[in-house]
Amino acid sequence: MNRIPVVLLLLACTAPALWPQMNPTEILAPSSARGDFHPVFRIQDIPPFVIAKMNLTTWHAGCPVPVSDLRLLVLSYWNYDGKPDTGMLIANKAVAKDLRTIFHKLFRHGFMIERMELIENYNGNDERSMEANNTSAFNCRDITLHPGKFSNHSWGRAVDVNTLTNPYTKGNIVLPPGGRAYLDRARAYKGGILADSYAVKLFTKRGWTWGGTWTDRQDYQHFEKPKRQ
Ligand SMILES: [Zn+2]
Repeated sequence: MNRIPVVLLLLACTAPALWPQMNPTEILAPSSARGDFHPVFRIQDIPPFVIAKMNLTTWHAGCPVPVSDLRLLVLSYWNYDGKPDTGMLIANKAVAKDLRTIFHKLFRHGFMIERMELIENYNGNDERSMEANNTSAFNCRDITLHPGKFSNHSWGRAVDVNTLTNPYTKGNIVLPPGGRAYLDRARAYKGGILADSYAVKLFTKRGWTWGGTWTDRQDYQHFEKPKRQ
């Protein structure tokens, strides 16, 4: 064997080990900032006052799941100031444990989330919630740009993470519009989700699909785990 093929063979063997270093690194919160903060990762029934708000905003007759199939998750996270905080999500009871585990692991990892408020605070308005970089899950609504077809958010089986930092793109459309500043997906952003991100590994390992891998559109904020038919 002459020398050139040997060199090529060596390169081929060592290149995969070098790939992670070539990818952008994540921007993580320093764990030293935790202080005496007590993180919470809890699944609970949805309190009546929240259900009342859902009935005015995110849930209506004809939605594919009853509110009794949904749960409130109280989850801690690192905000974009690198400080620990606690927010809330509403999701289907069938995926609640997955989400609790994933967000607990993301907290331990130092993954940053700018905001995690109930989307009911935005009257269920996805555009406003996305522009605020809000992380949310259940919302009985249509698929983005596909009126009349329920999104997996309508089952509480989809979650959108850091919606401004991780926008939805289809051709020239970017949603939310402010997400255009984050279209360089080779760059590391606070709360950014890239193909090699720990968040993608956590979700896909549990059978969730990441919208960043779709070919007709990229929905970098979106993870879903539809019910198997
Ligand atoms: Zn989504």
